[in-house]
This record gives sequence, structure tokens and C-alpha cells, in this order.
Amino acid sequence: MSTNMSLDKTSQPSVKHCAGVVNAKYPHGRPEHELVPSRYALKVGAIDVLVVSDGVLSLPGAMLGHNVDPAVRGAWLEDMFQSPDVLEWALNAVLVRSGGRTILIDAGIGGEFPDLPRAGKLAQRLEAAGLDLTSVTDVVLTHMHMDHCGGLLADGVRDQLRPDLRIHVAAAEAEFWESPDFSRVSMPPGFPDALRRTGKRFLKEFHSQLRTFENECEVAPGVVAQRTGGHTPGHSVVRLASGGDRLTFAGDLVFQVGFEHPDWYNGFEHDPEEAARVRVRLLRELAANREALVATHLSFPSVCHVAVDGNVFRWVPGFWEY
Ligand SMILES: [Zn+2]
Repeated sequence: MSTNMSLDKTSQPSVKHCAGVVNAKYPHGRPEHELVPSRYALKVGAIDVLVVSDGVLSLPGAMLGHNVDPAVRGAWLEDMFQSPDVLEWALNAVLVRSGGRTILIDAGIGGEFPDLPRAGKLAQRLEAAGLDLTSVTDVVLTHMHMDHCGGLLADGVRDQLRPDLRIHVAAAEAEFWESPDFSRVSMPPGFPDALRRTGKRFLKEFHSQLRTFENECEVAPGVVAQRTGGHTPGHSVVRLASGGDRLTFAGDLVFQVGFEHPDWYNGFEHDPEEAARVRVRLLRELAANREALVATHLSFPSVCHVAVDGNVFRWVPGFWEY
């Protein structure tokens, strides 16, 4: 044998010949295969709920509690088998069907922050689930941080959205992003500018489709957006209720550390004291009425319950139902 295959210089047929006959989006004629589908379906009474992962954000560990001694924070991360430096934050969105409406709750990050390449997969994953963006009648934004609204700004997404799409967001949130206050946050470099830019661009591009509400808005039967404030002034949660079943999508009110340490300030909270108060109030309520919780940055699929544990709370992951 004299041939070294790895050094074979024989010219290979160019792959360019097929570019004209397949969908340019997928050079192989189909969506890129993923090992796991990253979606989880459940029912809340008559309401269909699909949790879809937009991917994972790798962020500095300090973000989970910037008012805490680094050694204490490091010990928590070690207890959770996480690196002391980088925390992998899930990024979950939810698709809900009720009363003939299809509602997307938050939209992932899109391409708004190129240094987070493991996220921005929502459109691809909806498509892999057989869900067409044109079927979405309503979007509810818990708030306008780029990891929640950026997906609607991603390349090619706008063209697939219906012209009569309604985007529900609290009036206080839309107002906040006209001139946002970043004086209380503790974010990695580059984030405040990217968030400002995305918020402004979102308001400009989707202005005519925004449907703002003051405190509450029933988007479809049993699907109610409720303003909480705290994380951002117009931060909202979405309450689902049908046939005695209840589930709350809490957006960024609750992070993984927030059960054990509800008083730790998350770096992305624009009013951390108020965010902690709202978090404790919501966790107490969910523990008392035993309803299910889904939140943006809880480990996928994030369906869980909340229990009281002394002065704090305990995270009770949902049991796999399929
Ligand atoms: Zn977020």
C-alpha cells in the first residue's frame, strides 16, 4: 500500500452543483439533525403547552448572586456540580394553544449576541417540531431583554410572521426601553449595550404590532399575562388555568438559585430588591396552591413545583410523563 488516504490530493466533486436544487437554508435538504429534540409537551386542562429550548447561555457564575460573598457563591456552585466560573443557563420559551389561538411566550435570543453561539435555536426547533411560525397568532413577552425578544429579530423570522400578529407586553416595559436605567445591574461587559440596542430595535421594528397592557391581559381563554415588575419595570408572568389545572411561566423572576436563596440578586435585575420581593411572593403563592412552574432559565424542560423549606424554598422537578 503506497497510498496515504489522508494526503490524497485527488480533486473531489464540488458540492456546489446541488445548491440550485435544494432549499438554500438546508444544504442537505432537511433541518440539521439534533440528537435531542429539545421540546417537551404537556397539558394544562384543555390548554396545550410545549416548552421549547432556545439553547444554553454560558454566563459568569457571579451573575447568579452579585450581593453575595464569592466564596459562598462558589460553594453553592460546587454543591450543584457546576463550575465556579461559568454557569450554563437554560433558555426556555413556551408555545401555548388555547381557544384557537397559538401563543408564543418569549422568543429566545436570536442572533443578538454572537458570543452565545449555543442559543438562538428556537425557530429551528419549532420547525423541527412541525410548527410553522405563520401559525403563531400572538406573542407574549415577559420582558424585553434580548434573550426573550431577540428571536423575533433573527434573520428571516420577520418574513414568516403573520402581518396581524399581536405582540403583548406591559406598557411599563415598552416605556422602560425608550430610556432604560442600568444603574443597579451587574452584567458582563458588552451586555448593557447589546440589551439597549436590542430593546430599541425591537420597539422600532415591531411598534405597529405591540399590544400593551397595564396590569393584566387575557390573551386567550385561560392564558393571562400579569405584570409583576422587579426584574424590569414591566416584567410579567403568564398564568395558565384550565379545568382545575394551573401553571405559571415565571420568565426571569426565578433562577435555579432562587429557591434556596431567593434574596440573591441576579446580575440582570434592574431593581434587585423589588425583584427579590416579587420572587418570594410568587414562590410562596405557588407553594401554597401547588401549581406547576416553568421559568426561562431553569434547567430544561423546567416543569417543576415549589415547596416551602424552612424560611426558603425547595425546587421539586416534575416527573417525566412520557
Ligand atoms: Zn432572561
